[in-house]
Amino acid sequence: MSEAEPPTVTTPEPAQARVFCVANQKGGVGKTTTTVNLAAGLAKVGQRVLLVDLDPQGNATMGSGIDKRALNLSVYDVLLEAATVAESRQRSDVGGYDVLGANRELAGAEVELVTLDRRDQRLRGALRVVTADYDFVIIDCPPSLSLLTLNGLCSAHGVIVPMQCEYFALEGLTDLVNTIKQVHANLNRDLQIIGLLRVMFDPRITLQQQVSEQLKAHFGSKVFDAVIPRNVRLAEAPSYGRPGVVFDPASRGAQAYLEFAREMVERVKQMA
Ligand code: ADP
Ligand code: MG
Repeated sequence: MSEAEPPTVTTPEPAQARVFCVANQKGGVGKTTTTVNLAAGLAKVGQRVLLVDLDPQGNATMGSGIDKRALNLSVYDVLLEAATVAESRQRSDVGGYDVLGANRELAGAEVELVTLDRRDQRLRGALRVVTADYDFVIIDCPPSLSLLTLNGLCSAHGVIVPMQCEYFALEGLTDLVNTIKQVHANLNRDLQIIGLLRVMFDPRITLQQQVSEQLKAHFGSKVFDAVIPRNVRLAEAPSYGRPGVVFDPASRGAQAYLEFAREMVERVKQMA
């Protein structure tokens, strides 16, 4: 009997989650709707997802069917390093993904973080421990370029920018693009704009079509193919504590977000 060959040990790298920020410093542009429906859409196509709510309004938490007023631990505790992500996350049963929730307490973190070291790297450090648990981490940012948003950008591989095709849409992008460039240069070499997502789109409005064409001419493949229509079912879903793609899967809005989720899965394959 010959000596057994020593087994060639190939320990595969554990799959690492891709982390995306949904950001736009304007309020009411569809960040939270995009975060919640992307998370639920990715879950529907079999991806393991963590949603991180970085907005003290807690809308993404509520929209996932989790009561923000009843959180024992939240992203606030994680940012202050008083708790881990594993201790603080909750399951969204309706959405099929995990949630690191937020509520009003988070507004205080902004002030408390300022005097602490690594104040912009807190979320990144906390997420690193759980990246093997997920395929995607999706972060809902507040409507500002604040320290909270900075924590999101420092944690992410990419930024998803939802935008309405309005007259000043391009102009409004300048500050965000500059911030992303600075973060890329100084704090997070991984960061890139993954894409612009046209939301609340109404093809009957000529101006929206024109701005949409301008976006494509200007940003090319950075504009996602999926287009999210204005659809009342998406707006109704949060009051039922459900993502739109779960609340009314057949609606046009839900179908568009599912298509977007599939597009994200494809984009991530190209990034790898
Ligand atoms: P943000 O997080 O950027 O402040 P939201 O996602 O909360 O924006 O959206 C702002 C408002 O617009 C909400 O009332 C939401 O329900 C509504 N909304 C978002 N996307 C759509 C859509 N595609 N169709 C109709 N209403 C939408
Ligand atoms: Mg929001």
